[in-house]
Amino acid sequence: MSTEKLDELRDRLEGLDTQLLELLNQREALLQKNGALRVESTSALRDKVKHYKTGHLHKNVMLNLVKVLEDAGKNPERQNDRHLLVSRKRHPENTVLTIKEEKIGDGIAHLIAGPCAVESEKQLDDAARAVKAQGLTFMRGGAFKPRTSPYDFQGLGLEGLKLLRQAGETYGLAVISEIVDPRDMEAAEKFLDIIQIGARNMQNFELLKEAGKLSKPVLLKRGLAATIEEFMYSAEYILASGNDQIILCERGIRTYEKATRNTLDITAVPILKQETHLPVFVDVTHSTGRKDLLVPAAKAALAVGADGIMAEVHPHPGQALSDSAQQMNPKEFERFVYDLTASGLFNKVRA
Ligand code: PEP
Ligand code: MN
Repeated sequence: MSTEKLDELRDRLEGLDTQLLELLNQREALLQKNGALRVESTSALRDKVKHYKTGHLHKNVMLNLVKVLEDAGKNPERQNDRHLLVSRKRHPENTVLTIKEEKIGDGIAHLIAGPCAVESEKQLDDAARAVKAQGLTFMRGGAFKPRTSPYDFQGLGLEGLKLLRQAGETYGLAVISEIVDPRDMEAAEKFLDIIQIGARNMQNFELLKEAGKLSKPVLLKRGLAATIEEFMYSAEYILASGNDQIILCERGIRTYEKATRNTLDITAVPILKQETHLPVFVDVTHSTGRKDLLVPAAKAALAVGADGIMAEVHPHPGQALSDSAQQMNPKEFERFVYDLTASGLFNKVRA
């Protein structure tokens, strides 16, 4: 075919494509005027295709196109995802949080470490010393523990938050703890530097809205069986209520796999980094549930762009009142930090 002929064909195709897009857009504009017409018109279009004369395009391809139009119309408000406050399309720069003069989300990763639960002043003091000994800034510790069994240790509640604040002041650490009840948000704001919303409460929308009214950063964990989209919508609740200081935390999801406590969805990290502008952490303790996997999981997380890691350390894991099998003792924790640093991935973490 001559070059002129090819150019002419290209021009015609381009013209047709432009018309096609214009027509699809016009069709959508009409449907948005009256949503009730959506189902009716899609089914009429499907009938039209079925009775359409056999042409160049196979009918199955046309029916697939109808299906795409139908799906696009199912959730018209979701077509506006690009307008979500969490979306990187809306906010192209990384959100960077400043907590105790440390920046989270600026490309230098951080480690949040500490016991599963605050158990006593002594236990927390020993844990804080282990965290501080590694030159870290952020300490975790659960005070309100969402336990599967009501007979398991439920945490020290408000007293736990006070102990955290005290240890934080003694060792110069920023403290983070989970809040499960909107009524505790005020106390949380007083005692904590970061408020955690746990996996089980990722879709507790009233809690999310309360967290959205705070002026403190919120670390939001992914739900046990939440899709990435649902996770982002939960963060959207917090943002839409006025708080843009959010850290997303992948902590593994429920699958059929039993080798680990949960299945760490490692690709959630780059997806969330691409789709949102928020810092992303990975909790290696609750995702793997296995001490032998903490280092490889943390390395993987940092390698795919995580802004930080969460891990549990307890002065005497064997005596811990929760998650005793998966918490590191101070010696193991030292090794964990050493291995991460030696990997080169953590050098930037602690620079
Ligand atoms: C926790 O971090 O203490 C915790 C309970 O984790 P998750 O909400 O991810 O299960
Ligand atoms: Mn735990």
